Amino acid sequence: MKTIGMLGGMSWESTASYYRALNEGVKARLGGLHSAKLCLVSVDFAEIEALQRTGDWDSAGTLLAEAARQVERGGADFLLICTNTMHKVVAAIEAPLSIPLIHIADATALRLKADGVTRVGLLGTRFTMAEDFYKGRLEERFGIEVLVPDTPTQERLSSIIYDELCLGVIEDASRRVYLEAIAELARRGAQGVILGCTEIALLVQQPHTDTQLYDTTALHAHAAIEEALAE
Ligand code: GLU
Repeated sequence: MKTIGMLGGMSWESTASYYRALNEGVKARLGGLHSAKLCLVSVDFAEIEALQRTGDWDSAGTLLAEAARQVERGGADFLLICTNTMHKVVAAIEAPLSIPLIHIADATALRLKADGVTRVGLLGTRFTMAEDFYKGRLEERFGIEVLVPDTPTQERLSSIIYDELCLGVIEDASRRVYLEAIAELARRGAQGVILGCTEIALLVQQPHTDTQLYDTTALHAHAAIEEALAE
């Protein structure tokens, strides 16, 4: 089994979901007392969030690249960046590494393609929904059309991520906001909706809606298990 590298802490609430999913996935495949071989470096999310808010993406990239190097030195065979948003600086993180990385959007896109989805809704932080680093990758590399909510809805959804989900706060009222955004994307023609922030599945799960959901935490973890157990 290969050792899975995790660049986590963004936020730790979702890194905990990854940790569970990776171990449960390996146990499901190998049985018994088997568990995932992991190397995790977890950053202080307050530092990252401050850099996001002030638009200092270069410093965020430098900080995360150093953390990724620590993961590599710890013995990881490949890397997961356990957040959608910080894939904005994936090039900076990847540059000093000699181990490969599984991009979260690629892991998601492969499942969308397998399901025959050509038009998908995307929910996440304001950065992930408004900017091109994530949508553009799905569109250009995989030919998948991406729909996002209107700007006021993006702001609302993003605030729920930073002010509640990353702090472990789960509110029914916020779940209703997400479910309404999902329903609106489906009305606009989305065949499914990407939970494109690794905390959203803490709030919204498949039984809450008839729209097909694509949980990036689960899909990223699944791709990592496949890689870790590949011959
Ligand atoms: N975990 C979130 C994501 O997947 C948001 C936290 C962050 O800004 O990294 O985008």
